[in-house]
Amino acid sequence: MGESTVAETVLLLVLIAVSLSLFWRRFGPVLRIIRESRAEPGFELGQLGPRIGNFVWEVLLQAKVIRDRPLPGLAHAFVFWGFLAFGLVTLSHVAEGFHLHLMRNAGALGQLYSGFVALWAIAVAISISGLFWRRFVTRPRWLGNVSVESGVIAGLIFLLMLTYLLRFTVVEGSIFGKANWWAHTLALLIFLPLIPHTKHLHLLLSPAAIFAKRQGFSQIPHLSGDEDVGLVARADVTNIDALQAFSCVECGRCTEQCPAFNTGKVLNPKQVILGLRDYLRDGNTSEPIVGVHVLEEAIFQCTTCGGCEESCPVGIQHLPVIIGLRRGRVNTGEWEDSYGTKLFLTLEKNGNSLGFAASERTKFIERAALPIWDGSQEYCLWLGCMGAYDPKGRDTIQSLARVLNHLGVTFGVLRKERCNGDPARRLGNDLLFGQLAESGVEGLQSAGVGPAQNMVSICPHCVRTLGTDWSEAGATFAIEHHTELLARFADRLPKPDGSIVYHDPCYLGRYRNVYDQPRSLLGNNLIEPGRTREKSFCCGAGGGMMFLGEEKGERVNLNRVKELVDTGAETVAAACPFCQSMFRDALGTVTDRPVKLLDIAQIIAAGLPSVLPSAPTI
Ligand code: SF4
Ligand code: SF4
Repeated sequence: MGESTVAETVLLLVLIAVSLSLFWRRFGPVLRIIRESRAEPGFELGQLGPRIGNFVWEVLLQAKVIRDRPLPGLAHAFVFWGFLAFGLVTLSHVAEGFHLHLMRNAGALGQLYSGFVALWAIAVAISISGLFWRRFVTRPRWLGNVSVESGVIAGLIFLLMLTYLLRFTVVEGSIFGKANWWAHTLALLIFLPLIPHTKHLHLLLSPAAIFAKRQGFSQIPHLSGDEDVGLVARADVTNIDALQAFSCVECGRCTEQCPAFNTGKVLNPKQVILGLRDYLRDGNTSEPIVGVHVLEEAIFQCTTCGGCEESCPVGIQHLPVIIGLRRGRVNTGEWEDSYGTKLFLTLEKNGNSLGFAASERTKFIERAALPIWDGSQEYCLWLGCMGAYDPKGRDTIQSLARVLNHLGVTFGVLRKERCNGDPARRLGNDLLFGQLAESGVEGLQSAGVGPAQNMVSICPHCVRTLGTDWSEAGATFAIEHHTELLARFADRLPKPDGSIVYHDPCYLGRYRNVYDQPRSLLGNNLIEPGRTREKSFCCGAGGGMMFLGEEKGERVNLNRVKELVDTGAETVAAACPFCQSMFRDALGTVTDRPVKLLDIAQIIAAGLPSVLPSAPTI
């Protein structure tokens, strides 16, 4: 800039003060809301190693952003890295207004750094132009309405880069040099207060949100006592919920993945988070969260597939919020749904979600000649509701038994079992879940199954609930999915012929990170559908949805089965009895082709050298 006059220095001081005060006027209340929210029950900022690792991966390296959307992700990463590189030159730029020439005084090093930042300025200018084009011209539908603020921010960033680069071409102290310096300064001082007024608040909060997020996937916080019924009003929002709500960058990645949104339902996970944020901003402490800001219909359309949580680049955990809101409605008796009521009554009365008498389970065990668990076997085989009562679930259990016998792995089933409470848990009925979980823990303990005893299940929902959610009832168990067990014996098992398309169940993939084990059992003719592994598309059954009423919009199972069938595969391989049930309902509607639908245990059993029941064809 050359030397500034006294008037210029005073003007600069005034503008900085205005900019900072406008910034704080918005940012201060946000910090207060987060600070004054109640502490998250059971939350500890422990496990610093994984937290730091995650911070480096997701914040500093921007790996998740790039992985999910390579081109826009890289553009975003360049803007972020450019901002980091600009830190020092921005300080030096403002200092020039006060006759301090930090870069110039740093000699060759300062010159080198200025040149280095110039390269970043070019990268940022190109990247922000690309992001602007995407947001305002191509406009993917999950980005939602375009905001003028985003355009202004993009324009200011571009101006900052341009004016930085121009300083290398203008003579210092000349009229153009001064004009350029002031243009850069004004862009900076307008940009600062816009940060907390726009979605760019994530620049300040998302590093903290990523560092402090709850460890583990879809962690539903324990209730903190009898008074705690879930998320009802302001007093129930935790500081982690609030921090995450204000960190949303409105990118729509969660919406893009959501099976409910993609099949025409009301639910939009981004709007759930923004609804919570608006609720907190409104500051009406007595008003319930569900109502104006978040629709009840939306939260009860969630399949708890976790696609939103998995894809969020700033660590927002939607499921604790969605299930917290369900808890608030169900535990206070506000939720009225005839299917939900029927399910809860069935679970209470029959102890299973399908409404059968427990004696039907005993008869099946006897008919199938399943060995009873006596403590001497290697594995306790948990049947679950589907394995005990559903005809195809029973086929899967019998197939698994044949495979385990073939391998010489010993196992036994419990004489009695009740539903583990998964649908009650995900629908927010804590009282019922608590009863089922406690009776399940007692049942296992009285059968001599300890916490370290190997258990196996054909159902990823059972694996998750016994292995994680039962901690709320005082104990968890070392249970794994049958594909994890069988994968350890893959070289001793027959590989199937014919083409197979595998569907990743949400509760096995996203919830348990088990992707390779099922594939290792399916041979070389495996076909991947378009949406696969972490980006798999839900079958529509989770979160209690299998038991609720008619879906609005397109059915989720039809959407998914169509994609699986369109691969041309002869067999659809499932690894969850709920997925299998949903696909069974949908297959006949989407194709006339005789596509086989089998669990992986059934596929393997069909290749064993003994007489086997013929594979069901839909
Ligand atoms: S968990 Fe799945 S269904 Fe529920 S909001 Fe997230 S993406 Fe949508
Ligand atoms: S919640 Fe996460 S994924 Fe969804 S819009 Fe906000 S930042 Fe993007």
